[in-house]
Amino acid sequence: MATTAKVDVPGSDPVLGVQEFLKLLLRQGEIGGVFVQTHLNPHGMPMPTLITDPERLDRADPLAPAFPMNAARMAARLTHGRSGDRVAAVLRPCEIRAFVELVKLNQGSMDEILLIGFDCLGAYSNRNYPRYIGGDDPMSLTSGFLGKTGGSEDTAQSDYDIAEACQSCENLEPLGADIGIGLVGMDLGDHFVVTAHTPQGEAVLSRLGLADVEDPSARRAAMDALVEKRTAYRNAMFERTHEATSTLAGLSEFFARCVNCYNCRAACPVCYCKECVFLTDVFDHKPWQYLGWARHKGMLKMPTDTLFFHLTRLAHMSTSCVGCGQCSNACPNDIPVMELFRTVGARTQAGFDYVPGRSFDEPPPLSVFKADEFPEVAGAD
Ligand code: SF4
Ligand code: SF4
Ligand code: SF4
Repeated sequence: MATTAKVDVPGSDPVLGVQEFLKLLLRQGEIGGVFVQTHLNPHGMPMPTLITDPERLDRADPLAPAFPMNAARMAARLTHGRSGDRVAAVLRPCEIRAFVELVKLNQGSMDEILLIGFDCLGAYSNRNYPRYIGGDDPMSLTSGFLGKTGGSEDTAQSDYDIAEACQSCENLEPLGADIGIGLVGMDLGDHFVVTAHTPQGEAVLSRLGLADVEDPSARRAAMDALVEKRTAYRNAMFERTHEATSTLAGLSEFFARCVNCYNCRAACPVCYCKECVFLTDVFDHKPWQYLGWARHKGMLKMPTDTLFFHLTRLAHMSTSCVGCGQCSNACPNDIPVMELFRTVGARTQAGFDYVPGRSFDEPPPLSVFKADEFPEVAGAD
């Protein structure tokens, strides 16, 4: 049974190799469409795009170091109901993990989707990606970013690097995908590998007629080295953030620039409430209330409820935080939202022994009630 196959890279460009692989899936009728990050403008940001014509895949560039949004929610939208055909969604590992969370929350479905993931070397922030491409055609820069052996090159530019979320991401392997594209440690001028992780992926790969290979040991060694580097970066980030936010005064200072625009909430793929309580009458305060609160202490910072908003969000979704960093990416005031949500998320996820996106069989902790849970907190024996 084939689990790993080799995909040749035309013109020494792995982006072309990925495009050819997707075209093959479309032409052989395995899928009716591809949902993939695509350059729609010559010098702009690639955006998630649904493509049904193989010829239109020529500007698809899922490996570009650009991450304009976590597309899990868009992928979920494509599956929430029947379309009559299977779509392949090419997603980053953090998008796949978020998608799995949404499926578990009944906001998406696995019925008509083929998840294709890839070894993710990270992305620049929305602010820095345009600086990275400058005036060049972004398609021409992606293979340079990937490096000759997927991950061997330094991603740091003169005064910026890939996003903090990516530098601290230890989950860069697409383990939840039906098919994973293996790039790290590969000779990308020649080939990469595709690996089936599910029976659906196995069935699709076996019909494509690609040459079987062993999952090369060079890939494993390079992946382990990359994960080790990122884990060390992550641990330092956890420590720094914990120190900065472990008191109320520290937390207040952390969010001092917050203007309650809710961009972080809108960008978060796992902020799952259909109607956010912060947009309801509950927080539509009256003038006499503001004045009363101001009189109580002699002054009132506005907008109000900024800390309350973040604490509520943490209570709702930190167990599902996949660390994608889109909250930080979306913040107009450069608040490092991801740092806090990942730091708290690591604690709440460990508390429930829960890894978001790991398995469809693990219900999100807040969706189950266990009478004997956390007695030391609840005060019950
Ligand atoms: S957070 Fe991880 S999986 Fe997501 S884009 Fe960054 S490196 Fe890739
Ligand atoms: S809180 Fe931030 S890092 Fe976590 S899943 Fe949401 S957007 Fe991504
Ligand atoms: S995006 Fe930034 S400013 Fe807006 S609500 Fe979130 S933390 Fe506050």
